[in-house]
Amino acid sequence: MALLPIVRLGDPVLRTGAQPVPDDELSSRKVQRLIDDMVDTMRAADGVGLAAPQVGVSWQLFVYEAVVEGAPELTIPLTVVVNPMVEPEGHETVDDWEGCLSIPDLRGLVPRYPAVRLRALGRDGRPFDRVVEGFEARIVQHEFDHLNGVVFLDRMRDLHSLAFYEEWERYLREEDAGPTAAKAE
Ligand SMILES: [Zn+2]
Repeated sequence: MALLPIVRLGDPVLRTGAQPVPDDELSSRKVQRLIDDMVDTMRAADGVGLAAPQVGVSWQLFVYEAVVEGAPELTIPLTVVVNPMVEPEGHETVDDWEGCLSIPDLRGLVPRYPAVRLRALGRDGRPFDRVVEGFEARIVQHEFDHLNGVVFLDRMRDLHSLAFYEEWERYLREEDAGPTAAKAE
């Protein structure tokens, strides 16, 4: 297991469009190890998603997984996404809280589509095509943005909801906010 350093806002790699992973490199030891290390790094950081640019690699690759204590219905199995296309299903967006491992300690309300169509390759190079919804759709949009040099702050309608985690918990977290609201990706 190897943990990779997570780069923070200000590192130019977070503002750079990522390149597709070349077909003939996906099965290489180097890329497969990178995927394993990204999974370890995401879990160690208690995150629910991690994109390659967040570990300084400008490739179109991200991983996500949600294991929410006390809420097994919110579990999202580990998913590896390579060279994705993401399209919204429908036009309406919903606001919910987001945090980012590259913008530590901040939370803000971000509008996202409640469902998106995700087309990509898995780590074995096999294409998949599925519609994801809810929290999973939010994670996918957040990670896909990272591949295009976009962070959640750019998506906020206004910055009034932006808060440090501790203050967010104290003043802003609604009584009915689910456990996913506290997660970063
Ligand atoms: Zn992020």
